[in-house]
Amino acid sequence: MRDDVLQIENLSIHYDTPRGALKALRHVNLRVPRGKIVGVVGESGCGKSTLISAVIRLLAPNATITSGAIQFDGKDFLALSESAVRNLRGQDISMVFQDPMQTHNPVLTIGRQMTDIQYRNNTSKNEKRTRAIEMLALVGIPDPERRLAQYPHEFSGGMRQRIAIAMALMARPKLLIADEPTTALDATLEVQIIKRLHELQAEIGCSVLFISHHLGVIAELCQEVVVMYAGEVVEQGSVREVFHTPQHPYTKALLECDPAHIKKATRNLPTIPGEIPDLVNLPTGCAFTERCSHAFASCRVNRPAWTAVNAVTGVNAAQSEHYKLCHLDKLEGTV
Ligand code: SF4
Repeated sequence: MRDDVLQIENLSIHYDTPRGALKALRHVNLRVPRGKIVGVVGESGCGKSTLISAVIRLLAPNATITSGAIQFDGKDFLALSESAVRNLRGQDISMVFQDPMQTHNPVLTIGRQMTDIQYRNNTSKNEKRTRAIEMLALVGIPDPERRLAQYPHEFSGGMRQRIAIAMALMARPKLLIADEPTTALDATLEVQIIKRLHELQAEIGCSVLFISHHLGVIAELCQEVVVMYAGEVVEQGSVREVFHTPQHPYTKALLECDPAHIKKATRNLPTIPGEIPDLVNLPTGCAFTERCSHAFASCRVNRPAWTAVNAVTGVNAAQSEHYKLCHLDKLEGTV
């Protein structure tokens, strides 16, 4: 039986705009198993940011949850009081952002910021200081005791991101949400930080919801992947199955655009032709129809159903954790 730390069921969210309701998320189902890393991929506008805002319950004032439920660690997250959610944030749920300066306060030393973090139990300042030194050492900050007295601007960008990870994991959260944490870094630093994050996650045993547009990083770090398009989850399953035998044309197109899969030397990186649909005036059928090279008549009028994939992988449907949102029975070929 699955033990999920985060469970999102049928979540739909819209934003009130002058043009009408912008349907940012539609019928999203997503699970993060305890101790596992789940990646979320998709282009800009696919709903990743709204998903994160919902999970930390910091939605914009013009957002409305029109359907669904979020369970966190067995609790009905949407029914919790504001103060209960505030207590969970930073302790049981923590975050790492793309820009570490969003985490750091520029006028406080790193040591002060790390010892100000609230723990579940009454941990003394001295114990927090010891833990801060340990965490800085674990993320690879040399001479951590001395550097606790320094301010964020005295560290390089890569170091600041490592410190942000150390801070996010200080209180041993049950769920870490990492929002494009390596996107602003160069490739070498990215590899180092992903490796360190992986080691720390294994040591602490927390679950991670890892948002990235970088498929190589998702493949390296995550056990499961969720592919989003225009506010919907269009495919999800184990990284191995989804990346080796994608069953949604959008996933396949994303993989074909990944620099790691480009076979011919070219000056231009391939892209998926077209744009995501207008989320205020969505098409009736499949939202990917206008960009899909496999589209047929039914795709324009009928919304596809969420179905288990078994034909290609040979996995029994009852055991399959690989799902897709597409009318096609089978998408031929691997990437
Ligand atoms: Fe393409 Fe149709 Fe599948 Fe949508 S339902 S992804 S348009 S084949």
